Amino acid sequence: MFTSSPTHFDVYERGYIAVDDCGIIQGVYHTLPEDFAYDQLVDFGDKLLIPAMNDMHVHAPQFANMGVAMDMQLLPWLNTYVFPEEAKFADEAYAETIYHSFVSELWRQGTMRAAVFATVHTLATHILARTFDEAGMGAWIGLVGMDRHAPANLCNTSAEWAAGIQTLIDSLASMPLVKPIITPRFIPSCTPEMLRCMGEVAKQTLLPVQSHLSENKQEIAWVKELEPESSCYGDAYYRYGLFGQTPTLMAHCCYTDGEELQLMREQNVYAVHCPTSNCNLASGIAPVRKLLQQGVNVALGSDIAGGHHLSMFRVMQYAVQMSKLQYTASDGKYPFLTLSEVFYMATKVGGSLFGKVGSFEKGYAFDALVIDDLCLSPHHLIASSPIERLERFVYLGDDRHIQHRFCQGKEIKQV
Ligand SMILES: [Zn+2]
Repeated sequence: MFTSSPTHFDVYERGYIAVDDCGIIQGVYHTLPEDFAYDQLVDFGDKLLIPAMNDMHVHAPQFANMGVAMDMQLLPWLNTYVFPEEAKFADEAYAETIYHSFVSELWRQGTMRAAVFATVHTLATHILARTFDEAGMGAWIGLVGMDRHAPANLCNTSAEWAAGIQTLIDSLASMPLVKPIITPRFIPSCTPEMLRCMGEVAKQTLLPVQSHLSENKQEIAWVKELEPESSCYGDAYYRYGLFGQTPTLMAHCCYTDGEELQLMREQNVYAVHCPTSNCNLASGIAPVRKLLQQGVNVALGSDIAGGHHLSMFRVMQYAVQMSKLQYTASDGKYPFLTLSEVFYMATKVGGSLFGKVGSFEKGYAFDALVIDDLCLSPHHLIASSPIERLERFVYLGDDRHIQHRFCQGKEIKQV
């Protein structure tokens, strides 16, 4: 089962997927074509087979803070909880331990690819990349640029960042599924000099960009003070070549509207909706339906440790539930999100940043999860349709029900 489009699930009950030696899907069939030649047939019986999850906004160094520190809003929360934890990643042994636990937990939750923020530390960021590579999982790895409004031990200069990203470009060249991504933390953390440097590197290398946008009202007011010549928060990135000049992911977009929304659409900037984080930090409810209606691509992110859990199935639940709050708050003006829409965001939209990933259509990488949902409802399961079974898993299931995990055709048995 998969979503080739957001409007419905493509269901192949007792169907077949043909995967070649490179892990690429050659076809999906209701019944196997006559004389179909194959080397190996793997039968998953009555289990659900779905594309693996793509988490398009997540902070690996905040893994140790996951599930705690929920008593503040964005700006004081960064200073009180996030920065002291991130400073620890100057210690490579600490990075090794936390990053291994982080990648292992992503794997456990069924997320095979992610767009990840690391810290300002080049060596620790390389450790994170290596951990994904050794696991056989995919990632965009972000060495953070940050040269103002943060503790001195967490700031790098633009020259240090540029040297660091070059080191990563070289050292990650041998990692087939892991690549660097240009990562200004957000406008308040980056001087014009840092932003100019990052925009220049984006232009030269064509690497994608990830950052934060219009998450919180105080943050937006602060950006206006810091970048008075920009017409909106998004324009502050755009002016430095960091808003769609190369593929761009912007997390949150809770208050994106008007000119910023138009700029996102024109520049094909992806919004990454992080509903658990937006709830926990009392940031706001992102206008996801409006973004979709305006033609903006929306992916999903766990955003730990603003978000409290790495499961993208939980993120899907929150996305649907928050859209229902918005539906009632808008007197029905913005229809709430459906299960197929949020599933599409967590699979095919996020996956599109990695190439052909996130679907079971021909030509896509076989990134997949086998879900054993039998125990979720033993008395009703036989009468349930595949879509009902998936819905029940999304709302009631967890990592214990994920029996197999594949990335690019390879089963990943342990991280
Ligand atoms: Zn974030």
